Amino acid sequence: MSPLEDLIRKRIAGDGPITVTDFMALALGHPEYGYYMKGDPFGATGDFITAPEISQVFGELLGLWSAITWKQIGAPAKIILIECGPGRGTLMSDLLRAAKMVPSFLDAIEIHLVETSAVMREGQRATLTGHTPQWHDSLETIPAGPTILIANEFLDALPIRQLVRTENGWAERRVGLSNNRLVFETGDDVSDTVLPVPPPEARALPGSIFETCPAALNFADTLNRRLSDTEGAALFIDYGHGKSANGDTLQAVRSQKFADILADPGDADLTAHVDFDAFGSRLRAGGSRTLGPVTQSAFLSALGIEERTKQLTTGIAPDMAATLRAGTERLTAQNQMGELFKVMVATHADCPTLVGFETTVDSEC
Ligand code: SAH
Repeated sequence: MSPLEDLIRKRIAGDGPITVTDFMALALGHPEYGYYMKGDPFGATGDFITAPEISQVFGELLGLWSAITWKQIGAPAKIILIECGPGRGTLMSDLLRAAKMVPSFLDAIEIHLVETSAVMREGQRATLTGHTPQWHDSLETIPAGPTILIANEFLDALPIRQLVRTENGWAERRVGLSNNRLVFETGDDVSDTVLPVPPPEARALPGSIFETCPAALNFADTLNRRLSDTEGAALFIDYGHGKSANGDTLQAVRSQKFADILADPGDADLTAHVDFDAFGSRLRAGGSRTLGPVTQSAFLSALGIEERTKQLTTGIAPDMAATLRAGTERLTAQNQMGELFKVMVATHADCPTLVGFETTVDSEC
């Protein structure tokens, strides 16, 4: 049993069941035993692999996107470049290398990283040698000013709340103890009036699960305040759905395989699908403009992933060329990350339509 499971069992035995939200927050963020607090889980030999770890082209294209966006928002003399949940720092490193193509953009950049894990911060510091990022626990403490924000697989790591439909209404889904094992259980009914459940979902069948992500909605509120003061664009790339719907999407991954969510918390990554519908609605309600989500495949194609891959693979060793081509395929193929992963941008209200989103109309209000 993981030390965190032991701790959670004792807490439940003493104080009663905990919410799914608290369980996920502890599993990922417990100061000592939380998944991200303990070590580096990334890469081909780690628990999971993310887009920037698959191919350098991913971060490079985001560097290109950032430079073009900077010009589109008026090429401010100083730009606050934020990355949320930077992992190993690979994306930022690739982005900054590509940004060298636009020296005036590179000169304008001030780097801020939102990262809660001390261990991950150390890795980022090593990857970003030669740069001087400033670290923050949250978006709140980053100074005001024109902003470009990038977040790849950040929102999916924020703790979700799960509600279960009962005969009477919606109830909190919790984690309790039964026969000396951690189990999911249905807690007290919660009043429908406080729930962000869209009307059709309110008629869901008993047993249906509805997810909401309070931390993502708080993040949207903070971002709205920033974007109402200044020019800016925030790009979110994550796996998820474009329309809110019922469904249990909480998952655990360990050694690149699905694992039991309740077994050995702290030893597996826990994530949930991002509800871009709910996140985008909250951003628009606070005055931001949103574009997308578009598929990762459409977004990377618009930025020229095929051309960049061809350019990089010309005249290099065949095995290196094959690896680069396989990376591009993995990022864009319909049956791999191309369709499941979506890209959405939030901007200040009167921002022009940004590169990668030209074919989309503004998201519905
Ligand atoms: N963007 C990276 C890593 C994604 S994993 C990549 O694409 O490879 C999630 C990252 O978010 C990790 O760096 C993790 O430590 C960080 N993280 C998780 N929860 C966080 C939170 N609540 N606030 C800030 N960072 C968080």
